[in-house]
Amino acid sequence: MITLKIKNIEKLKAKAKTGKNNKLIICSLCPAWNFTKDEISNLARELNAEEVRIPVICNKPEINLNVDGTVFVLACGVGVQVVSESLNITAVPAADTTGIGVKDKDGKISKYCIACGDCIVDETAGICPKTRCAKSLLNGPCAGVHNGLCELSTKDNPIKCGWNEICVRMVANNEKDKFMAIRMPKIKR
Ligand code: SF4
Ligand code: SF4
Repeated sequence: MITLKIKNIEKLKAKAKTGKNNKLIICSLCPAWNFTKDEISNLARELNAEEVRIPVICNKPEINLNVDGTVFVLACGVGVQVVSESLNITAVPAADTTGIGVKDKDGKISKYCIACGDCIVDETAGICPKTRCAKSLLNGPCAGVHNGLCELSTKDNPIKCGWNEICVRMVANNEKDKFMAIRMPKIKR
């Protein structure tokens, strides 16, 4: 699924029109995977916007809507563009599209891909370093790894070092030499 992050609420509120019928268009697919119903309702309340649910906006459904105030869109960047195109308006994204990801059993969402257009995961134990290394390094781990965690971890948000994961899997699969070849700096003499 597409991973989404709700934008700064105060900045969004500044874009809502007072005394007008603001709308929050919500795609039925990825937002429901990223956010709880309460989170979505709270967002609509904060924006003083009416919730309008539209099934799978990337299928380009027909959208009929009287536009009066600001049209916020809770969807990926594609959804915002489709709504703008369909209504011939400038819709406002209520969330940022951060990547493509997975949800663990405990509900934690993790990015696995940023759609770079040049997939290399067969070289890196089936783990994407561009996404799962916090610095998108192509020959980690860097010196910031500690006990398998990235230096950008916080107490509330431990982040696994993607390169540590790659190393552990490659060593377990007898690919240590291949891993060391990735690690070697490419020096031109
Ligand atoms: S290398 Fe990573 S970001 Fe690029 S396509 Fe593959 S998984 Fe996605
Ligand atoms: S500690 Fe690991 S995940 Fe963090 S920046 Fe370094 S290599 Fe990347």
